[in-house]
Amino acid sequence: MTLQELLTSLTRDLHAAGTDAPALEARLLAGHVLHLDRIGLMLAMPSPVADDAAGAIRALTARRCAGEPLAHITGRREFFGRDFEVSPQTLIPRPETELLLEIVLREYEGHGEVRFADLGTGTGCIGITLALELPHSRGLLLEYSAGALPVAARNIRSLQAAERLALVRGDMFTPPLLPGGLDVLVSNPPYIPDGDIAGLDVSVRDYEPMTALKGGDDGLDFYRAISDKWRTALHPGSRLYFEVGIGQADDVLRIMRAQGFGDIEVVPDTAGIPRVVYGTLHESVFDTE
Ligand code: GLN
Repeated sequence: MTLQELLTSLTRDLHAAGTDAPALEARLLAGHVLHLDRIGLMLAMPSPVADDAAGAIRALTARRCAGEPLAHITGRREFFGRDFEVSPQTLIPRPETELLLEIVLREYEGHGEVRFADLGTGTGCIGITLALELPHSRGLLLEYSAGALPVAARNIRSLQAAERLALVRGDMFTPPLLPGGLDVLVSNPPYIPDGDIAGLDVSVRDYEPMTALKGGDDGLDFYRAISDKWRTALHPGSRLYFEVGIGQADDVLRIMRAQGFGDIEVVPDTAGIPRVVYGTLHESVFDTE
């Protein structure tokens, strides 16, 4: 059987199982087993696939058809054009999160030194991308999960961002020891209301880590904690950027405003869902303290 024929058959299986992008996923699974990138796969299309390789690709496809996320099967996920390691201990980087990066970069590209922190870094996708896209930046990547930390550490190393990044174990409720030191605070925190977890898509609920999903009773615990406790790490003019869940933008905007942030903007993602909320810390909060 040629690679072309194998891919056609796998695409049909994936389609029948209702996966998101059957043809692309078939290619990624085959590429993973055969160690071929997109171009390599194209060149190999007319060639026969060895039986053991074809068997291995079929076995992975069966896992995907049963609901396991593609990124867990391959252990990799592309984010902002770079290849990140992922594991069941980290949230899989999402396309919406690329919007968050675009918004931060629009403001800080071409700037001099930018000091930032990425709270709840997971794979490190946000903080590592910032460090690599902003060559004069320095960043603190904070993560609480002991299972996620080594994944972030390996991504920092393999993407060669170690010189300007510090990876620290910590939680978002503990004020940092950096008075006024940060220009930018970014976070895509866990934001699913605890009561909504059971109703999540199986591919998320049964496979992705709870610590990366659960945001407390109303899903807003981490937005409250970060806007409040981490203000001491900022200075007037510092910016706070959040990714938010569906229907949370107005609440997050109010939380930020109550903590002294102004010029707050809400930006929708490509599906039209308000997805990024950001604002600037105003001088006044320091005057009144
Ligand atoms: N910051 C990571 C990401 O955006 C992890 C987010 C999380 O675990 N909630 O993918």
